[in-house]
Amino acid sequence: MNIGLGLWGKLSEEQGLNPRHNYDKYLANSQYTRGRKIIHVGGGIVPTRRPLPSLVANGFLAAGDAAVTVNPVHGGGIGPALLSAELASKTVLEAFEKGDFTERGLWRYNIEYLRAYGIKQAMLDVFRLMLQTLTNDQLNRGLKARLLTEDEVLEISEKGSLELSLIDKLKIGLRLMKVPDVASKLRLALRYMGEVKNLYETYPESPSGLSSWYGKLTSVYHDYAGKLGITLKWLSNT
Ligand SMILES: Cc1cc2nc3c(=O)[nH]c(=O)nc-3n(C[C@H](O)[C@H](O)[C@H](O)COP(=O)(O)OP(=O)(O)OC[C@H]3O[C@@H](n4cnc5c(N)ncnc54)[C@H](O)[C@@H]3O)c2cc1C
Repeated sequence: MNIGLGLWGKLSEEQGLNPRHNYDKYLANSQYTRGRKIIHVGGGIVPTRRPLPSLVANGFLAAGDAAVTVNPVHGGGIGPALLSAELASKTVLEAFEKGDFTERGLWRYNIEYLRAYGIKQAMLDVFRLMLQTLTNDQLNRGLKARLLTEDEVLEISEKGSLELSLIDKLKIGLRLMKVPDVASKLRLALRYMGEVKNLYETYPESPSGLSSWYGKLTSVYHDYAGKLGITLKWLSNT
């Protein structure tokens, strides 16, 4: 057997537990594992967050996990790593052609990455933060009420949005009424996903605009974190 245990980063004491703790608690004495020999134990970190403010600097660019190009909801990073690597390699080729390896010269890569994947990543990060604030009970009730179906969650995680017909909207509306506390968080997340999308679409065309743009982004996150009732350490450092 190959057993995988995934845990969020430390947003609360309960969620920050070592995976080994959950293995011991839920699996070590289960019918599946009892009496079995452990052959290998390993782990890894998946950087699930919004895109970096910039992927380039003078003579430098980052791609893949080094540039945190991972889907913040399900942690899949292979596809976006390949995508960012392709865009990065095109940028490097251009840099050689122009003989310009400055931050300004490489800047186009930021814009291309955001268009290709980063905007969706940013929206999904907003969704992830909301998911992380749900208790086990809320998650279970939300799943039971089929607040969103597997297909809808998949659509959100793939596209960063949900395209719904009027009938679908009505169906979801009825499901939402069964779990109002979870529904209000979902609505909040969808609203801020839209705000963050609009903001990322105005990402600066050159490095000089980054500081003021980033100020607007932190302000949106600040509002959102306040409404979710969480503290984001990176906000207090900015
Ligand atoms: C447990 C786990 C399960 C995952 N499951 C999935 C999944 O099912 N689907 C999915 O899409 N993604 C999954 N991911 C995420 C995915 O593995 C990564 O997002 C992806 O591999 C990132 O690719 P990368 O090339 O950017 O980085 P990496 O694959 O980490 O490659 C970086 C390479 O650089 C090498 N390196 C580091 N430092 C140096 C150095 N100084 N000099 C030379 N080489 C160096 C490393 O050894 C490594 O080989 C998973 C991650 C983990 C941890």
